[in-house]
Amino acid sequence: MGSPSSHLFLFLFFLSLSGISGCSNYGLDVVKVDDNFFMLPGEGGNSSVVIGDSVILVVDTKMKQGAERFHRWVEDRAKNKRIVIVNTHIHKDHTGGNHYYENVEIIAGDYGTQFWLANNSREDMPNRWLSDTIVVDLGNEKAVIENVGQAHTFDDVIVYLENRKVVCAGDIVLNGYHPYLDETVGSNVDDYIVAMDHITDKYDVKNVVPGHGDLGTAQVIKNFRQYFVDMKAASEDIDQTDAMRKKYGKYLNLPVNKAGFDQTIKFIRSNASLRN
Ligand SMILES: [Zn+2]
Ligand SMILES: [Zn+2]
Repeated sequence: MGSPSSHLFLFLFFLSLSGISGCSNYGLDVVKVDDNFFMLPGEGGNSSVVIGDSVILVVDTKMKQGAERFHRWVEDRAKNKRIVIVNTHIHKDHTGGNHYYENVEIIAGDYGTQFWLANNSREDMPNRWLSDTIVVDLGNEKAVIENVGQAHTFDDVIVYLENRKVVCAGDIVLNGYHPYLDETVGSNVDDYIVAMDHITDKYDVKNVVPGHGDLGTAQVIKNFRQYFVDMKAASEDIDQTDAMRKKYGKYLNLPVNKAGFDQTIKFIRSNASLRN
């Protein structure tokens, strides 16, 4: 038998281990935006989780070990609620955890089976191709899920949370990162700008969950739109190239070696020469 104070110590010790909510974060970074809305950065792309009255909405499922831990994190909070998953796009850093969710609706842009299998795995293939817009009623929130067409890939999907005025933009919008531009899955610089304009015209955006980088305000979209405008200018004019290399000197490259200042310039130049 220990003293009452040692009991208290043990109680506090276990409380701190389990976390205040009684759920573990499994070593994941968790940004609690409010009681029912979480943003989990990294381990692949950023993920968003909205805990509705009877449905829990998950945007992007991360990759590798992070995806497995994220799945446990979601299941702990889902309890008996139905899980709905949205993939913002086909890249593995946003879809690598899909196979952990059994008997769950997994929604992605309308790539179709053949294109999916040419660019991703069968085990992570979604079971619903979205070509337009659907609204999922979460009870305490309404989620507008829209295929905004071609930008980062051929069929990018965004999620807009009506009550919170938050857009989960996937890799159409990055915060402080150079984009990974890949023509084979449909990356197109002009279409990025069109897609961003569409988002800001159609939705009243207060906050943005970018595909990579910190959660921010609508200014994050403005900044990333300006990035493409600047890089287009830089691709045509050597003076601009030096100025923009300085301006975007702090931007990060993900994935390393496949994205960066020079890669963006090269991509825009080869796109332009294809059109001429
Ligand atoms: Zn990504
Ligand atoms: Zn991507």
